Parts: sequence; C-alpha cells; structure tokens
Amino acid sequence: MAFTRLHCSTVLFSHLRTCSLLLGSPLVSFSSLPLSRFANRRTPVSTSVANMDQNPTVDIVPPTRRKWKPVCLYYTQEKCTLMEDGSHLEKFNHNLELDLGVDELVLNKLRPQELDYLLVLDLEGKVEILEFPVVMIDTRNMKFVDSFHRFVRPTMMSEQRIGEYIEGKYGKFGVDRVWHDTAIPFKDVLQQFEQWLANHNLWEKVKGGPLNKAAFVTCGNWDLKTKVPDQCRVSKIKLPSYFMEWINLKDIFLNFYNRRATGMMTMMRELQMPTFGSHHLGIDDAKNIARVLQHMLSDGALMQITARRGSSASGDVKYTFKNRI
Ligand SMILES: [Zn+2]
Repeated sequence: MAFTRLHCSTVLFSHLRTCSLLLGSPLVSFSSLPLSRFANRRTPVSTSVANMDQNPTVDIVPPTRRKWKPVCLYYTQEKCTLMEDGSHLEKFNHNLELDLGVDELVLNKLRPQELDYLLVLDLEGKVEILEFPVVMIDTRNMKFVDSFHRFVRPTMMSEQRIGEYIEGKYGKFGVDRVWHDTAIPFKDVLQQFEQWLANHNLWEKVKGGPLNKAAFVTCGNWDLKTKVPDQCRVSKIKLPSYFMEWINLKDIFLNFYNRRATGMMTMMRELQMPTFGSHHLGIDDAKNIARVLQHMLSDGALMQITARRGSSASGDVKYTFKNRI
C-alpha cells in the first residue's frame, strides 16, 4: 500500500493549512459514508470521517480510486458471520491494512529501533472501560501486522445504566447494537489478549515481565497510568506485568518535532493528515494514532519507553523526558 499525495479542493480540508495531504492509500468517498442511524441496527457502522461533516455528500474521490469503507466491527472482534456475503463485504472493510498502507519510498528515512513491534492502544470509557483496541505495527517496515479488538462489558454497573451509557456513547455512531452483541467482561478480554500476545511471541504468562521487544503506544498517559489500573481494581484482578511501561506518543512528538500536541487530532493537524472513521470509536482512533506513528517513524523518530511504573506498592510512574505533555 502506498501513502498517496492527494491534491484536492481546499474547501473540504479548510482546517488544514495546505491541501497536499498524506493519505493512506484508501481515499475517502464521503458520499459512501453511512448515516449515523440505520433501520437495521444489526449492521455495524463506523460512521463519518471526522472533520468532513461540513459537506458529507460531496464525493472528492476520483472514480478510479477505491472507496473508503467503515471497518466491520464484528470482524475486528472475530465474530463476523457474513464473510461469504458479497453485499456485506462491499459495504464494510475486512482488512485493516487498507487504512495503514506504507509507501516503500519513505522507508529509507527509517532509523533502527530498539523495539520490533509497537502496539497502539486507545481505550474508550469514562466510568469503566468499554472498548479495548490494539493495532500492531512492525517498526522495521512500518507495516500493519495484526489487531486485537474487543468491546468490554462493565463489571459494576446495572443493566439499565449500561444501556444508557452505551446508547450515549456508541448510539451516536450507530454501533450500539454490535456493542451489545459482542461485549465481554474485562477479565475475559485480558485472557484473550494474553493468548493473542503469546501467538505473536510478545509475552508469556509463565515468564511474566514486560513485552518482548515490543511496547504499547498510547496518546497520553491516561490509558495505562490511570484507566487500566482502575479497571483492574474494579474487576478484582492483578495489574498484568506487561502494562508497567509504555510510550506516550505525545511525549515523543513534542521532543522530536519540538511542537506541542494536545491530542490525536492536533498531531494529525500538525502533520497535515486527514482522519479516517469516527473520532472516539476506539478502533478508528487506534488506527489513526497508528497512522501518526507511521508518519513519525518515516520522519526518523526513535520510539522509546516514556513512562515506567515502579514496583513499589504505590506504583509511582517515572518519566523519560523532562519536556512532557
Ligand atoms: Zn463483517
């Protein structure tokens, strides 16, 4: 897959300073974007392209280009039963690599990395974790390797409260049905995730310790400093050893480009990249953060651990950079 330079109308990308955009190979057809609600709520819908809602019906894509499709959220959770159904495959993306293409030409700027694999993690859920998406990138060629995605069912909430919470968060993307169909408790998510890590030789339960030549990449410290330990307490499980260190991409961004980025959207704006999918749908955010990561790698950034949790009972976090966000 190639990153493609697209010269386009400045109208749709008016928030960007320039209209020369670094795009992943799939170009976005806004006319193909689903509306936020569908009569058939069984259909997983990853909705609009963020920032593009000024004029969602305009198609800026040359007809020869492949249309951007929302990812099938049953598929990302290994639960799609419609893999033989042509119209379903036509409508939804079943290959995450399509949004994470790499241009061979940019690889010459890659510098040697200490870590072979980076796991982009972007949790969703304010009260309890509702979504656990991970996108795995190989640092040697920047390629997408695999993903792990689960919707997470809260442990301490009543059914009624869960219903309201999910309607409020995922209802607006039109994916609350798929959440209800697929969500499992956090404890089960971690069990399946540990199997996934083992399949990729990234971690072994019997050995414990940190990931093997790999690290989590998050946008901020909240996910692993705050949310996962909180959820482990609520779910009454021990904080797993692979969650003790991570890379806060915003710290790397600040120290590499010497530009402050408050969040994913700011980093994408700074790098003049458009966003794909729905902002705050975890799997779409994880993919967009992975695209920022690819961009930074191709600019020659070195990915290194930025935060480490101490082994003491208080579990204080120590940071690599003085200059942090
Ligand atoms: Zn599917």
